[in-house]
Amino acid sequence: MLIAIDGPAGAGKSTVARAVADALGFTYLDSGAMYRCVALAELRGTADPLAGEIEFRGGRVKLAGEDVTDEIRTPEVSARASEVAARPEVRRHLVALQREMIRQGDYVAEGRDIGTVVAPDAELKVFLTASPQERAQRRAAQTGADPAQVLAEQLERDERDCTRAHSPLQPADDALQVDTTGLSVDAVVDRIAQLVQAVR
Ligand code: C5P
Repeated sequence: MLIAIDGPAGAGKSTVARAVADALGFTYLDSGAMYRCVALAELRGTADPLAGEIEFRGGRVKLAGEDVTDEIRTPEVSARASEVAARPEVRRHLVALQREMIRQGDYVAEGRDIGTVVAPDAELKVFLTASPQERAQRRAAQTGADPAQVLAEQLERDERDCTRAHSPLQPADDALQVDTTGLSVDAVVDRIAQLVQAVR
């Protein structure tokens, strides 16, 4: 079984997807971390940024054997990730890897195009949203950054993600939209758990 959770930056996808995966005993796939790994490889000037093996293990992310879990979360990598994600050859490569992973068991996969491109046949598709202000505030609270700065960077990234020619961020026609503005993580997880029960 596959549960797809898509939506813009800061909508709560990672926290919620991880909690839903834990609750169901499914494996969690953070597809954004894969775009971040390619961005990091590029920023480092790696000869072939797509060649490094990306592994998820025990909540950590490894790129070519090196633990890059923290390094892929910097604002510089975030900005570069949404640039590399606009390139068709990067998307083709990572989508193929993601399809290979989710074939191997029950997954909660999180990203921008899981329900539209990676797995249009997912049993449940959720599109998580929240107001831009709340999304920026959540990010700022996690990282300690200035909320206004986070909001500005996030608007730029959303704009790029939504307007790119290849797999722009948009809900699948059959996705269920969940607006998390003002909701606790537990409330969102409960709501998705109900949706899962309905399709099981
Ligand atoms: O979700 P996260 O913020 O880690 O994603 C980083 C960037 O990777 C996003 O801004 C987006 O451009 C890209 N991305 C994507 N498709 C996905 C996941 C992430 O284009 N499925």
